[in-house]
Amino acid sequence: MSKFQILVVEDDAPVRNLISTTLKANDYRFITAGSGEGAVAEAASHNPDIVLLDLGLPDIDGVEVIRRIRSWSNMPIIVISARAEDNDKIEALDAGADDYLTKPFSVEELLARLRVTQRRLALMKNTNNEQAFYQNGLLRIDYSLGCAYLGGDELSLTAMEYKLLCLFARNTGRVLTHKYILQNVWGSSWENDIGTLRVFMTTLRKKLEKAPGSPQYIQTHIGVGYRMQKTDE
Ligand code: CA
Repeated sequence: MSKFQILVVEDDAPVRNLISTTLKANDYRFITAGSGEGAVAEAASHNPDIVLLDLGLPDIDGVEVIRRIRSWSNMPIIVISARAEDNDKIEALDAGADDYLTKPFSVEELLARLRVTQRRLALMKNTNNEQAFYQNGLLRIDYSLGCAYLGGDELSLTAMEYKLLCLFARNTGRVLTHKYILQNVWGSSWENDIGTLRVFMTTLRKKLEKAPGSPQYIQTHIGVGYRMQKTDE
C-alpha cells in the first residue's frame, strides 16, 4: 500500500517539527517547506497527495500559494491559520483551499482533518468520470432525473434546494464559504445575502436530516460556511 505524502508548509520551525513528528508516527510520508516560494516549488516537483499550508509565510502570502497551485493542480490543500486571520481563512477557501485548521490545534484534530481529506480523495477517484448518480449513506441523487432520495423515499425539494444539494454533493468533504455557495447557486449579485442562504439551509435540512439540530450530512462552520460530509450510514 502506498503511503500518502503530505507537503508541510510552515515557517515556524517548532510547529513544523510537531506536525512532521505526528505525520511520521502515523505512517504518512512528508516533505517540508518554510516559505511560499518553496511550497510552490515542492508542490510542483513532488506532486504530494495533500498540502498542509500555513497562511502567514515570510515571503508570499499563503492565499497566493493556493492560487499558484490551483493554476495547475486540484491537490487538496488544508490551510492552517491563527485565530486573528479569520478573514484570510475565508479568502483561502474562496481561492480553492479544501479545509482549514485553526491554531492552536491538537494532534487529533490534525489527523481527523487528514482522514476527511483522504476520504474525499477516494471519493474523487471513484467519481472521476461524470456519473449519473451520487450516493452518500442513505442519500442518493439521480442527476439524470433531477431527483434526490433518502433511503428510497424521494425528497420533495424546490429547484433551489436541489441546486444547493447538488453543489454540496459535488464538493463532498470541502468546506464551502457563504460567498462561494451564493455565487454558485444564486449568482454574484446575491454575494452578501447570507440571510437568504440560511433560510434555504433550514428548509433543506428539514427535508434531508433526521435531526436538523445535529445534522448528519451538512455541517455548519460558524462564520465560514458549510460542508457536506461523507457518511457510512
Ligand atoms: Ca507562519
